[in-house]
Amino acid sequence: SDIARVRNFSIIAHIDHGKSTLADRILEYTGALSAREMHEQVLDQMDLERERGITIKLQAVRLTYPADDGQVYTLNLIDTPGHVDFTYEVSRSLAACEGALLVVDAAQGIEAQTLANVYLALENNLEIIPVINKIDLPSADPERVRGEIERVIGLDASDAVLASAKAGIGVHEILEQIVSKIPAPTGDLQRPLKALIFDSHYDAYKGAIVYVRVVDGVIAPGVRMRMMATGAEYEVVEVGVFRPRMTAVDELRAGDVGYVAAAIKTVRDTRVGDTITNADYPASEPLPGYRRMNPMVFCGLYPVDSSDYPLLREALLRLELNDAALRYEPETSSALGFGFRCGFLGLLHMEIIQERLEREYGLTLITTAPSVVYHVYLTNHSMVEIDNPSLLPESNQIERIEEPYVKASIMTPKDFVGNVMELCQEKRGAFIDMQYLDETRVTLLYELPLTEIVYDFFDRLKSGTKGYASFDYELIGYRPSQLVKLDILLNGDVVDALSFIVHRDKAYQRGKLLCEKLKDLIPQQMFEVPIQAAIGNKVIARETIRAMRKNVLAKCYGGDITRKRKLLEKQKEGKKRMKQVGNVEVPQEAFMAVLKID
Ligand code: GDP
Ligand code: MG
Repeated sequence: SDIARVRNFSIIAHIDHGKSTLADRILEYTGALSAREMHEQVLDQMDLERERGITIKLQAVRLTYPADDGQVYTLNLIDTPGHVDFTYEVSRSLAACEGALLVVDAAQGIEAQTLANVYLALENNLEIIPVINKIDLPSADPERVRGEIERVIGLDASDAVLASAKAGIGVHEILEQIVSKIPAPTGDLQRPLKALIFDSHYDAYKGAIVYVRVVDGVIAPGVRMRMMATGAEYEVVEVGVFRPRMTAVDELRAGDVGYVAAAIKTVRDTRVGDTITNADYPASEPLPGYRRMNPMVFCGLYPVDSSDYPLLREALLRLELNDAALRYEPETSSALGFGFRCGFLGLLHMEIIQERLEREYGLTLITTAPSVVYHVYLTNHSMVEIDNPSLLPESNQIERIEEPYVKASIMTPKDFVGNVMELCQEKRGAFIDMQYLDETRVTLLYELPLTEIVYDFFDRLKSGTKGYASFDYELIGYRPSQLVKLDILLNGDVVDALSFIVHRDKAYQRGKLLCEKLKDLIPQQMFEVPIQAAIGNKVIARETIRAMRKNVLAKCYGGDITRKRKLLEKQKEGKKRMKQVGNVEVPQEAFMAVLKID
């Protein structure tokens, strides 16, 4: 394809504003899929994405569009996820584009992630085309939203397309604006090959498949390619494009987006953000690549069946390949045995990875409560980073502990300002600023400890604002706090996987509530089990699980048989996620209980 008629673009939006639906319409309109193949949100391929209705992995697809100017254009569309946890994926896709469609819901207006995504697009120097979507809704107010885009973002929105992805309105106009406003890629066919790896996945037959944006030169089968960061070299076996199915082509040229297969067996050789060049005619400098994202939340992952440990290791290695934000290293717990300490961008990311491990690799896992990374300054003047509460040094060795803080911006209708402020207060937040977006909506700025956001902040925010608030946050650094480690003892023994770090003022209450919660969650055993919460040697709360009576079914005698069967099935189900800790059987929920006790 002639580079002058190539357009590479992304769609960015706050979650639920209609990115994926619009992508479907664009695919349909350009005939990328026949009506028979078309099913809703084809770009959300992963089962998980369909079920949760969110986009996790970015997807790329090549389209052909005969424009009104009589020319035929090649459009590469890269879909991006909208959730705050996946900002990393968004910035990866934006680096492969020259333009972005900014989708804003005509009823909701600009939300926190709309702004965050716009800033990423501006950082990447993208041309932004505003699209006001869902104009079919009775509550739509496109002119108010147009004004908001101009006032809050500072973009000219006079040409913003009024669209309904659902009803297929505005699609032609959007495609015309893509062609006329987004610049063609710049790149030189004669220069040495430079291709940016922006994603990859593992294929059982073809090995690691890397997704690339070719910036300069040409890549074709037979070329000896070199990954500039790792130095690994492979002969290219196949190159192709996504239509949206993988389709082999003769070559990928400067400006193109596509995939490269090279029988790559060592997944660690292909690093997202790395540059591919031609080993026989190499570029001197790699592309700038990406800012590496640091995980903010850590937890332990343990196989319920210890013999699954090697499978878990293999699965993490594969997942890391197409999720560069995932970190992991082996860890051992006296309660749970051999497992991995894993780092994630946030709680949703953590849940998604756990679910993928279970679905795609048939594993059953125990996850421990998530923790942030603490900076612990010792009396010997050194500092250690602690992401596992059970590894916190003895208190007499600690000079002070610092915890990560974030700056959170929360957008909410003004009627809920009181609720939001109350929540932030309770979460140890410091008020910074409040600004009116218009007469009805405000943005609140707070500084909050990251750990308080990890613990059910989002759910509480949503319920306190009838679902209307949205929020976004960024790390601003570390600050000293009065933190202590709370241990949980079962039957007199500390269960390392249940320890957590908490602000001193909240320790007593959390310890008490957690003991009560654990009493409900841990099934009765043949003997009495004391549950204690302790700071150091000082027990601050206690509950007792009474010994089991002879037969659980006893209470069903006289009841009907289906109820009995249900109870048995429930017990069987529970079994799967039980872990033997000493001589006590502990269910998965117990390890996460600390998240749900506020
Ligand atoms: P994404 O999270 O931005 O990818 O949003 P989706 O494309 O998954 O859409 C979120 C919800 O909004 C879905 O229930 C869609 O059916 C709905 N939706 C998307 N576009 C429109 C539209 O133009 N009009 C209406 N009424 N609903 C829409
Ligand atoms: Mg989506």
